[in-house]
Amino acid sequence: MSEILDSFKALATGFATTFRHLFRKPITEEYPEYKRPLPERSRARIVLTREPDGNERCVACYLCSAVCPVSCISMQSAEKHDGRRYAKWFRINFGRCIYCGLCEEACPTSAIQLTPDFENCKQDILTLVFEKKDLLADGPGKDKEYNFYKYAGVKTGAGNKGQHIKEKEPVNVRSNLP
Ligand code: SF4
Ligand code: SF4
Repeated sequence: MSEILDSFKALATGFATTFRHLFRKPITEEYPEYKRPLPERSRARIVLTREPDGNERCVACYLCSAVCPVSCISMQSAEKHDGRRYAKWFRINFGRCIYCGLCEEACPTSAIQLTPDFENCKQDILTLVFEKKDLLADGPGKDKEYNFYKYAGVKTGAGNKGQHIKEKEPVNVRSNLP
């Protein structure tokens, strides 16, 4: 008898839930007509950002390509006359990228950033190989004020060695010799 009662109770609860939903406003989102704004930290299409003064942030240190679990980042480093390093070319194969965000975590200059733009599907997989010109954004992205070369400890237009933020004068190694 108690089993029959339990069954009726379960049925009544189910129907009551269905009945309640009949009078609720539908919450279906008609994509792509409506695009829900995603949080700033959503992990989708990758960009290379710039410092607040417009310089490229990437110093071609290879950390992002070393940490990438699917090896989809490649580049070639070069150096300007003022000592700034940069990527001569920089390539990401989005056909392989799994949007894990490890490259962004590893980047010391906040150059590489994942954005909420997930609409990056192509029929031809080869068009998912993005070059530097496709990746380079106009602005600083999430880390708006950060300028790596103000902390870097190398001689650049942003200061000499020992003149950067919270940086000490470099040690003269000869003074340490016995
Ligand atoms: S998000 Fe992950 S898989 Fe994609 S490029 Fe960065 S490290 Fe590689
Ligand atoms: S994007 Fe960042 S981690 Fe990758 S090479 Fe440039 S500076 Fe290094």
